[in-house]
Amino acid sequence: MAKLYFRHGTVGSAKTLNLLAVAHKYDQQGKKVLLAKPALDDRFGQEWVRSRAGLERRADLLLDENSNFDSFDFDGVSCILVDEAQFLSASIVDAFRQLTRSLNIPVICYGLRTDFRTQAFEGSRRLLEISDTIEEIKTTCAYCNRKAIFNLKHCNGVATVAGPSVDLGAEEKYYPVCNECYHQQLEDAETHSEKETRDKAA
Ligand SMILES: [Zn+2]
Repeated sequence: MAKLYFRHGTVGSAKTLNLLAVAHKYDQQGKKVLLAKPALDDRFGQEWVRSRAGLERRADLLLDENSNFDSFDFDGVSCILVDEAQFLSASIVDAFRQLTRSLNIPVICYGLRTDFRTQAFEGSRRLLEISDTIEEIKTTCAYCNRKAIFNLKHCNGVATVAGPSVDLGAEEKYYPVCNECYHQQLEDAETHSEKETRDKAA
């Protein structure tokens, strides 16, 4: 039986680059890969999977919670690669799990573990629950040399936990951070905003 993989990492951990490298290896061996992603990610245009390093590839399958794999042809597919898997619904993750069994095709999902409030995304939670193999793609904290485990949101240059969890294409910036810097940055932003309020009142 084929395996379900979850490869998670923070923003900036080169997940998509890793995915595209795996796709390239299959290409070189003359094997067919199927590239899937959630339909809601319109950051770079729906149908493209693009890494920050500049590599890109067209997605074969755009998924939403109503997607039905029965109608899709998986003939000759050696591996399914999924980008931005955190945005999958739990039911789609279950459907991929089923595919590894019924069609014996491995499925490798790449995505964030948690949002900027350190809460698991729906797709990530289900992947953590039912994957055969969970691997961390590591990167360094933007502020120190520890390993990053969280995604810190900046809005207008200030760290914040405000706003919606899924806010694609917004003007916010996200940084990979360790636990220490995550809390320090948020505390600093809080202190800064309290001081501004005091200064205005004075
Ligand atoms: Zn740090």
